[in-house]
Amino acid sequence: MYRIVPQAVALPRDTAELGALLRWAAASGTPLVPRGSGSGMPGGNLGAGVIVDCSAGFGGVSVDPLRRVARAGAAATWAQVSDAARRHGLRLPPDPSSGAFATCGGMVMTNAAGPRSVRYGSVRRWVEALDIVGVDGEARSIKRDGGTGTGEAFALDEHARRLIEAKFPKTRKNSSGYALDEYVRSGDELDLLIGSEGTLACVTAVEWRLEPIPPDQAGVALGFRDLAALGEAVPYLVALNPSAVELLDGTLLSFVEDAGAVTPGLACLLLVEFERETSAAARGAVGDAVRGLRHLTAHVETAVDRAGLERLWAVRRLASPALARLPETQRSLQVVEDGCVPLERLGDYIAGLRAAAAARDVPVAIFGHAGDGHVHVNALPDATRAGWLDALRGLYDDVADLLLRLGGTPSGEHGDGRLRAGLLPRFFGPEVMALFRELKRAYDPRSILNPGVILPAADWQPLADLKVGAAAAAIPDDIAARLRDVERSGGWAVPKPELAR
Ligand SMILES: Cc1cc2nc3c(=O)[nH]c(=O)nc-3n(C[C@H](O)[C@H](O)[C@H](O)COP(=O)(O)OP(=O)(O)OC[C@H]3O[C@@H](n4cnc5c(N)ncnc54)[C@H](O)[C@@H]3O)c2cc1C
Repeated sequence: MYRIVPQAVALPRDTAELGALLRWAAASGTPLVPRGSGSGMPGGNLGAGVIVDCSAGFGGVSVDPLRRVARAGAAATWAQVSDAARRHGLRLPPDPSSGAFATCGGMVMTNAAGPRSVRYGSVRRWVEALDIVGVDGEARSIKRDGGTGTGEAFALDEHARRLIEAKFPKTRKNSSGYALDEYVRSGDELDLLIGSEGTLACVTAVEWRLEPIPPDQAGVALGFRDLAALGEAVPYLVALNPSAVELLDGTLLSFVEDAGAVTPGLACLLLVEFERETSAAARGAVGDAVRGLRHLTAHVETAVDRAGLERLWAVRRLASPALARLPETQRSLQVVEDGCVPLERLGDYIAGLRAAAAARDVPVAIFGHAGDGHVHVNALPDATRAGWLDALRGLYDDVADLLLRLGGTPSGEHGDGRLRAGLLPRFFGPEVMALFRELKRAYDPRSILNPGVILPAADWQPLADLKVGAAAAAIPDDIAARLRDVERSGGWAVPKPELAR
């Protein structure tokens, strides 16, 4: 969504070069922006300093099937980890839709999640160890249950613990702020680093815990004529212990209807998956879902094996490319894309989103992880129309107010980046913000790593530096065209320095 031209791009090839880069940055006061594939949404992966592009080194995946762990370089993608694990009948359960290009460094640093997170949580639970290089240029390994390292400098007293308990969102997912709530629970330094968006250290490798691929799956697509049905349908489905409950709203369905993918005229579709030990159990769960919601559904399509599930999920996979291919007069911008609310408030959240979008006259497409009370919203403004940016700002403010009112978090899985940094004082309050600043000082006293991300810059403006509109920074036409191709084709896996060759 953003375009900020950096001073330079550094391509360290190994830990020694990365250490030297960090020491130079600390000595010269140069901001560094760690970066994986650059697919992160809220602008944590770009900035005016020097980009640290990890694609020249830090790759590779090895699996230890006996310990059920995978060790992966920070630049290895989720897909590469999955391919290596599958050969041993294992998998990394959280499954970001961006798995083809999201890197291990990017996933850990945003606490990424995916459709299956309704059952398996975000990546946090699956990180066993991290190798990092800190701003002092020193490399360290940090293990789960391994006590604290730099984290020891960050002790929390009883008052702070109570404050954190009171102020953190009570949602099923959260990638906003530093995860002090998780740190209070575990006492593990790992939990301070996971989700820290490149602001505390650079990750060079990740050890993932894997689990066996479950024997059986079945699923169902349930279509509804009224969004209000979600208030009853989603909690009912979540109680059946599904491995995914994904939503596509009518706007998004209209983009894929041409492909003949779904019944026309639906207000929304839920895609539901069940993983069980036997096919009878998986089919039984589908039967329970269909019977229990018969009074609400206008469309039902079941799938009893993996091939059938693939067909059902094709419609979900068509969604992102359909949004990316919209004409230049209707750009898809992720300005309010990651709100998550307590499950029982999901219906209110979606109704509030629709009302705000209508009042601001900004079309929106809503989809995502309904089972976690977490939906993505792509704003689709006509960026050639006068006043479009003011309307978008209005939508941004309305949705922040709505999330606050509903006890939600502004980020379920993408992180705060630059986009949401300035909202954090409203969501967490001044005392928790002071703890966030203390944590940052413990790791990065000169604020070299990703300044303006999570902790807002003094001149924070969420919708400055957009890549669309008359104010977008000028870049060479050929580079602009190649970046647009990346967006349209989902080609984020291409190392960006290649685009300039
Ligand atoms: C089409 C599409 C679908 C998506 N679907 C999902 C989804 O289902 N679930 C989800 O969670 N996200 C999703 N995303 C968002 C994005 O893919 C994730 O946030 C992903 O984890 C980012 O990985 P990346 O390698 O692109 O990281 P980047 O975007 O390059 O970086 C993300 C953040 O991590 C930091 N970082 C990256 N590497 C390192 C490192 N080695 N050391 C320290 N910090 C680092 C960066 O500074 C930045 O703050 C989607 C994005 C797209 C475009």
